Amino acid sequence: MESHVIRDRNVSAMSGSDTTKRRRIFSGMQPSGEAHLGNYLGALKRWVSLQDDHDCIWCIVDDHAITSGGDPRELPRRTFDMAVSYLAVGLDPDKAILFVQSDVPEHTELAWLFNAVTPVGDLERMTQYKDKSQHFESVPAGILNYPILQAADILLYRADAVPVGEDQRQHLELTREIARKWNAAYGDVFPEPDALIGREGRILGLDGEAKMSKSLGNTVGILAEPDEVWARVRTAVTDPQRVRRDDPGRPEVCNVFSLHGHLTDPDTVARIDGECRAATIGCVDCKKILAESIVETFAPMREKAAWYRAHPEEVRRILDDGARRARAIARDTMAEVRARMGLDWREAAPAE
Ligand code: SF4
Repeated sequence: MESHVIRDRNVSAMSGSDTTKRRRIFSGMQPSGEAHLGNYLGALKRWVSLQDDHDCIWCIVDDHAITSGGDPRELPRRTFDMAVSYLAVGLDPDKAILFVQSDVPEHTELAWLFNAVTPVGDLERMTQYKDKSQHFESVPAGILNYPILQAADILLYRADAVPVGEDQRQHLELTREIARKWNAAYGDVFPEPDALIGREGRILGLDGEAKMSKSLGNTVGILAEPDEVWARVRTAVTDPQRVRRDDPGRPEVCNVFSLHGHLTDPDTVARIDGECRAATIGCVDCKKILAESIVETFAPMREKAAWYRAHPEEVRRILDDGARRARAIARDTMAEVRARMGLDWREAAPAE
């Protein structure tokens, strides 16, 4: 497995599981349309490898997406395209549950109930909140409460672990804190999920500066056609000190080289390393090799994506089935949560 657990936890007492039980894993991604290289290298590739020996639940978090604004008329298409990407990269409905968050309304219900145990101060100190809130004159409450919905996403399924990047670690800590506080107030229901931190690190965008992100326009789509891949990759920022073709380069500071490390065969990567330092390869040729690696790596996935796009009814069937299975777990959790929080008034007025 390409990840390591950063914290030990004894879940068996709370979840009723024994130590031989497969660990349950939850994660989700916003419906930003087709997945890009950062989505794949930073998350999806690892999700695929986790499916064989864990009970995995993969979600498309469209309830989260509404906090970023955007045109609601585009959201269904983006959700569909993300579902196609999930399936194309190998997330497997026979091994895992794949579903769309808004199909399981228990997510938002549990988030509301977690408001009861989450101090506003804890939300205000989240780094992402501080960054995002600067872009608003009047900050929507959803931006502040975003981590509560994330906690609900995870705890609704009593997940044992969550694959996260470094930038999500703080939110997962808050999830653990919410679980602790809720359990202390109402009884042990929620495990404190571990963070599975990947070894791939932060995948920088083609600008070589910020994390790869669609909203920053520094991405390359994994399902893009070869021409489009090249059009994107040719814009990638390289070693800023390599101004002329005969300037020796420094692969260790070049993001193109770092992407080669994820996608190009090791012998070619070693050759590029030497040729870059000796200035015997130009950046354009180096980027052409990277574009070819991307096209080659994702060729089978482009094929699968084309099939799913031609069979939207199959995508719908998979997501409907996933929502049904997710909801069965969610309902169990919520029945217990409601009862413990006193929201089960029929207890006081039993039917005759
Ligand atoms: Fe980067 Fe390749 Fe140019 Fe070297 S040759 S600076 S590794 S793009």
